[in-house]
Amino acid sequence: METITRKSLIYKSGLGVQCINHVRGCSHGCRYPCYAFMIAHSHEQVKNIEEWCKPQLVSNAAELLTKELSRKRVLPDRIHLCLSTDPFMYGYPEVTEMTLKLIRIMNSCGVRSSVLTKGILPEELTDGTIYSQENTYGISLVSLSEDFRKRWEPGAAPYAERIGALKMLSKKGLRTLVHMEPYPTPNIIQQDLIKILEEVSFADSIQLGGWNYNKIPKQFPEYEKFYKSQAILLERFCKSHDIHCEVF
Ligand code: SF4
Repeated sequence: METITRKSLIYKSGLGVQCINHVRGCSHGCRYPCYAFMIAHSHEQVKNIEEWCKPQLVSNAAELLTKELSRKRVLPDRIHLCLSTDPFMYGYPEVTEMTLKLIRIMNSCGVRSSVLTKGILPEELTDGTIYSQENTYGISLVSLSEDFRKRWEPGAAPYAERIGALKMLSKKGLRTLVHMEPYPTPNIIQQDLIKILEEVSFADSIQLGGWNYNKIPKQFPEYEKFYKSQAILLERFCKSHDIHCEVF
């Protein structure tokens, strides 16, 4: 895997959350399209999706994180991994190794981590002597169809593996989240939201968001009505399963 170095690591996102992105690019190559790719492309940081899909690890990420945390007068309550890459990139053990190292550094300073991935959450995270029990671990999941995944998230982990890893962490008492965004309209795929929810009914929290990256959802008649109906289904499901839910 190629590497690069950076001059700084922690930054405050537009959402007001402290974040780190310790990889440039992402092999998952989402075709919704990927918002991070579009930004990098518009700033001429990558030429095309093929280049984006060849990730480069920030080799000095651990040193930067240690230095930046030690210089903060007030430590952040949590740091999010990641907004513009994937912290457990499927098929890249170097990324997993670095992510685990960064979480250990944060947790050793009393900073919680929140993680969102389309990869596989590793079992190491269950070791409460090293990793904080206050961390939150999330997966992105908008379908159970492998045909859908191969079309829209070609490099990401198969859904069953993704869910299985999250379930394993949940069984160990860790906080888990399922992020369902961008949720597809029926003209993209016909599917039953309840069937997906049943697969992740162990989660502590579920978030649902629409597909806002291109015009395809708006070509579905009454797409707004569709999203409202899905939000109602989600809220009912979460209420009956004692799951925290958010719709945005
Ligand atoms: S997993 Fe996230 S960062 Fe990676 S390509 Fe998909 S949307 Fe982009």
